[in-house]
Amino acid sequence: MTHKLMILPGDGIGPEVMAEIRKVLGWLESDAGIAFDIEEGLIGGASIDAHNDPLTNDTLEQCRKADAILLGAVGGPKWADVEYNIRPEAGLLKLRKELDLFANLRPALVFDALVDASSLKPDIVKGLDILIVRELTGGVYFGEPRGIEDIGNGQRRGFNTQTYTTSEIQRVGRVAFDLARKRSNKVTSCEKANVMESGKLWREEITALHGSEFNDIELEHMYADNCAMQLLRSPSQFDVIVTDNLFGDILSDEAAMLTGSLGMLPSASLGNPGSPGLYEPVHGSAPDIAGQGKANPLATILSLAMALRYSLNEGQTADQLEQAVQVVLNAGTRTPDIMAPNCIEVSTAAMGDALISQLQKSKAEAA
Ligand code: NAD
Repeated sequence: MTHKLMILPGDGIGPEVMAEIRKVLGWLESDAGIAFDIEEGLIGGASIDAHNDPLTNDTLEQCRKADAILLGAVGGPKWADVEYNIRPEAGLLKLRKELDLFANLRPALVFDALVDASSLKPDIVKGLDILIVRELTGGVYFGEPRGIEDIGNGQRRGFNTQTYTTSEIQRVGRVAFDLARKRSNKVTSCEKANVMESGKLWREEITALHGSEFNDIELEHMYADNCAMQLLRSPSQFDVIVTDNLFGDILSDEAAMLTGSLGMLPSASLGNPGSPGLYEPVHGSAPDIAGQGKANPLATILSLAMALRYSLNEGQTADQLEQAVQVVLNAGTRTPDIMAPNCIEVSTAAMGDALISQLQKSKAEAA
């Protein structure tokens, strides 16, 4: 079976980290017997430069036909003054909206070798492996009515609307419960049911879904503010956290920082079964280090592992890739962002090469 991939390198360090993905895909084809049909397109500033549009409809159509989309990053100072509706980020938002990517998966995984990079004490974060599932296409960021209105007497009123429907809650809940079944069988659902009707509905619908389809999974409800505290106090209590767009935005960034480095954080955005998933590092285009060979490609490589697991049904290969990352880190191979005493600093390309060598070594040992 040939997997159809769409690669969108984007801007800044995007093309640099994507070059390492190309190396890994090349190795998977030549040495792991996995066939890919790869197309590449423009997004963000690169697409604005070429087409005055951050994501053309032609590129969007190519994305629709893929099994998975791998994206680098978009944006940078060069496009800071372009019109709001064609700014680089608009290309990414269009892609998420058009493909109805409603579930955003943000793992927070602490590799043993990087335990000291966290701002929390090593004994609190050692072995941490949690997954935040954030609803991505509904809630207060999209709800109507919204706006700023003049209410007289020199006063203005800003307003947004938090809305969720049964089906919006159920579909993201289903993703979270399904994932928990493949992990440690626990889902923590976060909202503010104590003060928000949308939160009350969220809790009721998640409870009903659990009762009807997932009562083999442990379900816990938690207010989002308590979750924010618990993530710092005792993060290992969590397995999968499912929450709405707004709380997910905040909690996923908080959880990410438990792991220490932006250069290590992958993400996935999933839609309905059968539609392509979007896989991208959490970091941006890092203009301050672009073109210098300093970017850490591991966030993007770990995003590829998520694509193999969630869109391409190649879970075993995803495990191998993640294990190779672990071994390379244990050996002290580090890009500048994760450099530590007694380690060896390497470039973006050398990190990719180290990973390929490790994959090759593991293959030889297994033979
Ligand atoms: P950033 O994530 O690009 O960079 C923040 C800091 O982290 C920088 O010091 C950078 O050098 C470092 N960093 C990021 N990724 C790294 C990596 N892989 N290896 C080593 N160091 C890394 O965030 P920013 O500086 O706020 O934004 C820069 C541009 O990226 C802006 O135009 C922003 O809009 C855009 N952005 C895009 C995305 C996306 O494409 N999904 C996400 C966030 C920001």
